[in-house]
Amino acid sequence: MGNWLDVIYPRQCVGCGKAGSYICRDCEVGMWEEEQICPVCCRLSGYGARHEYCRKPWSMDGLTCFWTYEGLTRKLITKVKYNFYFDYLREFIILNSELLKRTEFTYFNRYLELKPAAVPIPLFEKRLKERGFNQAEVIAKTLEKQWGLDTNNLLVRVKDTGRQVGRTREERLKAMEGAFEINHKSQISNDKVLLVDDVWTTGATMREAAKVLKQTGTRRVWGLVLAR
Ligand SMILES: [Zn+2]
Ligand SMILES: [Zn+2]
Repeated sequence: MGNWLDVIYPRQCVGCGKAGSYICRDCEVGMWEEEQICPVCCRLSGYGARHEYCRKPWSMDGLTCFWTYEGLTRKLITKVKYNFYFDYLREFIILNSELLKRTEFTYFNRYLELKPAAVPIPLFEKRLKERGFNQAEVIAKTLEKQWGLDTNNLLVRVKDTGRQVGRTREERLKAMEGAFEINHKSQISNDKVLLVDDVWTTGATMREAAKVLKQTGTRRVWGLVLAR
C-alpha cells in the first residue's frame, strides 16, 4: 500500500511486534471466533437471529459478533479506544470480511444485501470531547467502504451513563434507560438499520438503542459488534 504513514510508522503486529501488519498470520490464530447468540436472551442462536420465542416489542432482530473479547482481540480494541490507531480497525474489518463467507453468517449477508443504514452507538458529548472520536463511528465508516453501506448518525446520547464496568446486569439496564434519542438533524431514509459498536458486554446499550429506533419507525434492527 502506498501509504506514507507506513513509511514513517511501519506496521507492527500488536501481538508479537513483527513488522508488516497489525495482525500477523501467527497471532491471528490466537483470535477466537465467537459463537452467535440471540440478542434478547443471549443464548446461542444459529446465524445470530433472535429466537422466535424471544420476540418482544422493540427487540433487536439479530446480532453478529466476530471475535471473543480476549487475547489479541481485546488488545486491539483497547488500543483503538484510547489511541487514534484507526488502521487497526481497517485490518480487523478486512479479516471479518473473510469470515463473512461462512455459512453461519448467511442471515447477516442477506441483511447486508438490503443495504441497511450503519448507525454507530453514539458517545455522550463530554466523553466524545475527551476521547476525540467515537470508535463505533470509525467502525461504521470502515464498513461503509467495505460493504457499501451508508453511515447515519441517527442517534444521540442524551444521558451520561458513566462506565458500565463493575455494574450488575440490572444496574446496567437501569443506567441505559433513556440514554438515547433520535438525532433530528439526521434524516431517516431507511427503515432498516445495522447498529454498530465495538464490544457487546450485556447488550444493554444496543438493546436500548434498538428500542428507540423501533419506537420511531425503524422496521428492522440488526446489531454488529467486533467482539463480545
Ligand atoms: Zn504477531
Ligand atoms: Zn433468545
